[in-house]
Amino acid sequence: MQITKNKVASIHYTLRDNEGTIIDSSEGRDPLHYLHGAGNLIAGMEEGLEGKSKGDKLNLKISPAKGYGEKDSSLVQKVPRTAFGDQEVKPGMRFSTNQGGVVTVTDVGLDGVTVDANHPLAGVELNFAVEVMDVRDASNEEISHGHVHGPGGHHH
Ligand code: ZN
Repeated sequence: MQITKNKVASIHYTLRDNEGTIIDSSEGRDPLHYLHGAGNLIAGMEEGLEGKSKGDKLNLKISPAKGYGEKDSSLVQKVPRTAFGDQEVKPGMRFSTNQGGVVTVTDVGLDGVTVDANHPLAGVELNFAVEVMDVRDASNEEISHGHVHGPGGHHH
């Protein structure tokens, strides 16, 4: 069975940046289960997995445009130190915003704190090593919900 729209695929993956540093991996965990063609994975992953079958191994090099997007400089802002109250603030720390987003502190200066609301992987070229572990038909309920149910998926 091939991975096409409305199939549920299970994959193991390791994500590296261009320097070879591992950013994320499913190794040691259950494989990732996802509903293909529903936008649950980044576009470059879904394109690379289209038509693949159980047992296939592939290496995907994904540009930011098909990954987590290019960095948007308008999402980098300087805010007053007082916005953080008494909390410790250091570069690399992440904070939730009142608007429901997440920002990463990139600089702490005398005149304020620079925060970046871009996805941490925005602007990063992604190198995925992927192995297809299983492919099955999605249930009608999964298709109507747009996500996977059961092991590795939503429980509700
Ligand atoms: Zn559901």
